Amino acid sequence: MNTHPCKIISPDNLLASFEAAIKENSANELAATSGERHKRSVGQWSKFWGNGRTLNITFVNAEPEALRKQIEGIIRQWEPSTNLTFTFDQKLNGDIRIKTGAQTNESYVGTDATLAPADEPTLSLLVDPQNVDFEWTILHEFGHALGLQHEHLHPKANIPWDRPKVYDYYKTNYQWTEEQVYYNLFTLFPTADFMQGPYDKESIMHYVVPNELTFGDWEVPRNTRISKLDRRNMRKAYPKPNTTP
Ligand SMILES: [Zn+2]
Repeated sequence: MNTHPCKIISPDNLLASFEAAIKENSANELAATSGERHKRSVGQWSKFWGNGRTLNITFVNAEPEALRKQIEGIIRQWEPSTNLTFTFDQKLNGDIRIKTGAQTNESYVGTDATLAPADEPTLSLLVDPQNVDFEWTILHEFGHALGLQHEHLHPKANIPWDRPKVYDYYKTNYQWTEEQVYYNLFTLFPTADFMQGPYDKESIMHYVVPNELTFGDWEVPRNTRISKLDRRNMRKAYPKPNTTP
């Protein structure tokens, strides 16, 4: 069995999440559908950081410098596709606070991290460098930290899930409740959502889809690299001046 699937950390207060997103980057509101704010559901506005800003990334534990450098190197794979500057500076209380040696792999999505208490991590890693899942897990979690959602929840994903088998599988292997499975696997984002790019089976933000959990011959293997469309989405979210995505 592989590493436990990632669960994003969702703030309880949706209005606070919305307001934090707009305060940081007014373009986040453009993605929101019309309607009363209290009717909005998660994912109906984007949560990208202010374009052009510096993102301070810190660690909450006293892990070895070599491990920090390794994590930093992996995270920096995202940087060229953004118009952000990543800094790793222990003197600052980071915008993104990484905890290694955690019980799970999880992250807030983009600006939701601003709602976390200042002394708590915003991105947690269970994986260590000995783990075969180390690199892709960090790429995936940091994709969330930059504002990307789960690709298998893309409105056009159309995954032929065999739902009873999915509930069984996640209960047996990960002790997930039906509500957790429903939320993390079946709750698609609305079509009027943030990116409007095509669905991408190769996205680093996609869950593994085992063939035995779908009807027909349909699966998604473990994606281990940032895909071309992941990079295009990132360039759309954080456009560089005088370039087209
Ligand atoms: Zn995830």
